[in-house]
Amino acid sequence: MTQDLNLGEVIVESDALQRRVQELAAEVSRDYAGRDLLLIGVLKGAIFFVADFMRALSIECEVDFMAISSYGSSTKSSGVVRILKDLDAAIEGRHVLIVEDIVDSGLTLQYLLRNLAGRKPASLEVCALLRKPVSREVDLEARYVGFDIPDRFVVGYGLDHAERYRALPYVAVLTESATE
Ligand code: 5GP
Repeated sequence: MTQDLNLGEVIVESDALQRRVQELAAEVSRDYAGRDLLLIGVLKGAIFFVADFMRALSIECEVDFMAISSYGSSTKSSGVVRILKDLDAAIEGRHVLIVEDIVDSGLTLQYLLRNLAGRKPASLEVCALLRKPVSREVDLEARYVGFDIPDRFVVGYGLDHAERYRALPYVAVLTESATE
């Protein structure tokens, strides 16, 4: 494989990712034991995280997906969120856990939480694999967080830049020149 010069420092190695996903799944399995759990994966960035996380759970659960617009091919969040694909089924009375790839400004998640809360789930929590420091900008708490990472634009393990790099097994920084 040729080395991609746009890829910088590796922020989370593949084995650390896999270990943390197992830990999060063990925690969620304990917390939701005996409850009717519905995972909501946020497309497309959370695809690998949802898949690995769901397989690591020791409790029964269902999964549904939503697709929302985020950065397009730029690297800054606009705060304007659009639903590109809605859930297949109603969530009223269900215990819902949103499975997100990354929380940056938190604006996308804030929108999603408001939108889903309006559908009257029994409970609504967030499991985010990666969290950047600026997410404190809006006051929201993800109950489960995989890793706190620096404020850099990262790709891999589902995260893209202009649809590239999703399949990398680790999370790495994309160099500035690649995002200009
Ligand atoms: P927020 O609204 O929290 O600023 O942005 C959330 C969304 O922006 C994420 O779901 C993700 O799609 C995208 N995003 C935020 N930070 C990054 C990043 O470092 N790399 C990539 N590839 N996407 C990001």
